[in-house]
Order: sequence, then C-alpha cells, then structure tokens
Amino acid sequence: MKAPLGIILYKGKSLIDGQMIIVLATGIGDKTENPKTGNMIQTWIMTLRMSPIEAKKYGHDFSVCGDCKHKHFGSCYVNIAHAPHNTYKAYMNDRYVPFEESHLELFRGRNIRLGSYGDPAAVPTYVWDKICSVSNGWTGYTHQWNKRFIDPALKDYCMASCDNGTEYLKAKKMGWRCFRIRMGEAKASGFNGEKYLSYNEFVCPASNEANNKTTCSKCKACMGNNAKTSKDPVIIVHGLQSKISKFRWGMERIVWKEKYRVSFDDPRKKKKKRKKLKFSEVKKLEPITVKKSIKKYEDRAYCYEIYD
Ligand code: SF4
Repeated sequence: MKAPLGIILYKGKSLIDGQMIIVLATGIGDKTENPKTGNMIQTWIMTLRMSPIEAKKYGHDFSVCGDCKHKHFGSCYVNIAHAPHNTYKAYMNDRYVPFEESHLELFRGRNIRLGSYGDPAAVPTYVWDKICSVSNGWTGYTHQWNKRFIDPALKDYCMASCDNGTEYLKAKKMGWRCFRIRMGEAKASGFNGEKYLSYNEFVCPASNEANNKTTCSKCKACMGNNAKTSKDPVIIVHGLQSKISKFRWGMERIVWKEKYRVSFDDPRKKKKKRKKLKFSEVKKLEPITVKKSIKKYEDRAYCYEIYD
C-alpha cells in the first residue's frame, strides 16, 4: 500500500473543552531519523477551525493544550510556526486522507509519537488504542494528568509530564508513570536546582547528560504503564537558551509561591478551635429552632391550599 502524505486519525470534540479538533498523522512513509527520537510517525493535535498560530493568539489552543503552564511561561518546546503550521496548511489543502481500517498496516511495526504538538489527553483514548495496538512502540506525555476530565486509561499510553519534585510525588500517588524535567545545577539565587534523582528514577538515555546513548524508538521507556520498566526517566531542561530561561523563570515563581503559601497561608496555623457546646446549652437551643421551622412550613402549606 502506498503511504499517503498524512492521515486524519480523528475529527471531533476535544475532551478538554468540547471544541472541534483534529488529529493528523504524518511521516508515515518517511524513514528519516531524528537524533533524539529516531524514526517515528508524528501525530499532531490541532484545533479544527484555525491554524495553531491563530489558536495560540486568540487562546483557542486551550482545546488542545489545556492550561499547560509552558503556554503561559513561553517555554513550550514546540515551535508552532514551523511543523504544526505547515501540517495544518497541508490539511486545509486536502493533502491528507481520512483514516480507514486498512491504514492500520501502515502503523504496524512502526514507532509513534503521540502528540508531537498538542496534548494526547484532548483525544479519546480509543484513537491511541487503535494505532498503538499494531505499533512497535510509542512515546506520549501529558500535562493534564491531574485534571478531572482525564481518562484513567491514558495511563497505559502516556507519561505524566512533571516539572518539579512536588508534581512528581502527586502524579505517582495517582498511579502515573512520570517523565520529570529537572533544573540541573543549583542556581546562585539559592533556588533548589533539583539535581538529584529519587530511587525510582533514571537519566533519560537520549539526553545530553547521558551522552545520547540511544533514541526513543529503541529505548521505549515512555510508553506509560505499557513500558517494560516501572522506573521513571528524568532529563535536565534543554533546548533553546531562551526557552530554558523562561522555564527557569516560571518554575522559580511556582516554588516561591509554594514557599509563600507555607509561611503565610498555612491552614494549620489559622485553624481555630471550635467551641464545644455544653450539653445544657444544646438543650436550651433545640425547641426554638424546631418551632420556627414548623411555623414556616405551616404557613406555606396554608398558601398552597388557597391558591391551588
Ligand atoms: S526515557 Fe527513553 S523513551 Fe523516554 S525520552 Fe528518554 S530515550 Fe526517549
């Protein structure tokens, strides 16, 4: 079967806010290697009615990214002006074909990247179910792991993206496997650099700090609960220097906010002791409240009788 340029895997409502979104798969006939991920089919989760650039400008990217903090910090690693925008343009020019069962053969034995742009949590899990069932492996990450709308079945396909130790502990409690970003070296400002690993973590082997030992298509540790390992990978924040700075900026503010909450807003400090009523006091109050409510009820019943 000749591989099409791209396949429309899903066209329907976003699980995040119910707006129309599309999921496109590209790179199906492409055998080129990405130095970190290896050769993988890419999937793009985008708003249906506007390009990713416009969606970001007008805030409609909420349908595909949710309230991911990196949107606000400006530290998202995806450059939407390049691949996502061009993919959307190709979709608008009818270059992609709708998914058919026979297309599953094209995914057989391949590695897939779930959400090269967009959060896989926005898409019904049966979409990932289908293509992953025949694939050789995949990588998937979600920042929506602590949201109420999340499908628990997504734990089998995605890693919880955690940006600090607090998030990591929360996600572990909820049963996720995690992919944690750490700052690396501690900063002179006194901000904790989070350079240590927990007993259940290992350094991502495709990272610079692990000397790029392998690629994701060979490692296959980021397949949610379907991976063979139960340990969680960790990577030092990387990419463009401007994005790293924004990431640090945002995460430092989160840590300061947490510290601020602990010192000024700790509910344990403010908690007042409730006054215990003595038995004699309770007895005194009881007949008054009961009488009042009965009287109200009687008044209403009387009104109904007249006007019914
Ligand atoms: S842990 Fe493995 S699969 Fe996950 S990002 Fe690193 S190399 Fe890729």
